[in-house]
Amino acid sequence: MTSNTLAGDGPERRAARRETAVRAAVEQGLLSPGEPVVGLLDVTAIRAAAAALRTAFDEVTAPGTAVLHAFAVKAAALVPVLRLLADEGLGCEVASPGELALARAAGVPPERIVLDSPAKTTGELREALAARIAVNADNPEELDRLDALIAPRGDTTPATPHGPVGLRVNPQVGGGSIDALSTATATSKFGIALQDPGVRERVVRAVAERPWLTRLHAHTGSQGIPLELMTAGVRAVYELAEEINETVGHRQIDTLDIGGGLPVNFGSDEFTPGYRDYAQLLLTTVPGLFDGRYGLVTEFGRSLLAKSGTVLARVEYAKSAGGRAIAVTHAGAQLATRTVFAPESWPLRITAYDAAGRPKPTAPGGLVAQDIAGPCCFAGDLVARDRPLPHLAAGDLVGLLDTGAYYFSNHFAYNSLPRPGVYGFTVDGDEVRFATVRPPQTVEEIVTESGGDHAGSLLEV
Ligand SMILES: *Cc1c(COP(=O)(O)O)cnc(C)c1O
Repeated sequence: MTSNTLAGDGPERRAARRETAVRAAVEQGLLSPGEPVVGLLDVTAIRAAAAALRTAFDEVTAPGTAVLHAFAVKAAALVPVLRLLADEGLGCEVASPGELALARAAGVPPERIVLDSPAKTTGELREALAARIAVNADNPEELDRLDALIAPRGDTTPATPHGPVGLRVNPQVGGGSIDALSTATATSKFGIALQDPGVRERVVRAVAERPWLTRLHAHTGSQGIPLELMTAGVRAVYELAEEINETVGHRQIDTLDIGGGLPVNFGSDEFTPGYRDYAQLLLTTVPGLFDGRYGLVTEFGRSLLAKSGTVLARVEYAKSAGGRAIAVTHAGAQLATRTVFAPESWPLRITAYDAAGRPKPTAPGGLVAQDIAGPCCFAGDLVARDRPLPHLAAGDLVGLLDTGAYYFSNHFAYNSLPRPGVYGFTVDGDEVRFATVRPPQTVEEIVTESGGDHAGSLLEV
């Protein structure tokens, strides 16, 4: 294969790069009997996703519009990933002191960071304001805290210097197919519930009383939310901004943060829906959003990374029980937590390889329905049930596809299983180059995290 056929984006090229990288990961010893599970990230695909996002919004925004695409760090909380995205012009959306520290470690400047969290402490708020990081307040009590930090009531001295401050609203446009990820239901825990009786008036007043409150924010949900529901949420926020600005008589709300949530297709290599689909639908649903009067912030996570990631794991044993073939692998609930606990909502495509990382051929008897099990000690630790695949044997490999977001960095420390190493790759012809994103966690680190330095403490109290 020439480097040309593997460059750029598109489902076939992504799939071809993935297959090349799987073989190389075995050849180069990233995956071995001693390191039986790794995460692989396609650097070319990540760059292509970031470029597609930029282009989609460039196509619909008036020239000169300030647009910040802030990557939702929780989707891939890995410093080199944040640095790569920063190189593509993206910022970071953070929701904890840890995520903020990761964004800073990646060199993302404060004006490209947005802090959203439903439970910010006063200390976190103070630090974010002082660092001129954008903050989105979640609720009226948080606004009261901000009053005290920015412009104490009755104080006539100028407001303390700070970055942009916004208010998160819940447009209550409804939920999608996954309850746990639907943030705009009537009773969601996020933001100010805009359609509750009397709330809209209170929000308009609360903004009017606070000249430093210049943004509105909504994030309508993640995965399982149809595009029409997402755009309805954005439209509700836009209409609120228009009402506020009319009421106060000037353009106090100058920026709208429309959140993330573009759903990912876990069924094939197609990137669908795409950012262009969403941006074009937004343009027809909320044209005023793009006419240059408002700056924009987006907060995509899953859609930027999911299709670039593959978990590769060795089959340690192949067995059978009650007539069902079971492949016991090293990828289970410790990294595919949602897939294991909510398999209907989070199905994953699984590929089968031989021990050298070559696609496993189908035997003459055809595909065999198999359970793909993980290493955790509970019966439900299955990443797929009854899945037709080439019959797997000990030493073979499985790939868990589309796992670049919410799999590598949302580790579940069950059975003290280590966080696997994560490696980024580029493919040039037959040459695959890997870079360490995160080394595998060591057993020593697990002992330390588990109180190893305090072994005798309970004997001494
Ligand atoms: C999780 C989250 C996002 C990202 O959602 P994705 O579905 O990963 O795009 C964006 N904004 C907020 C406030 C979030 O909580």
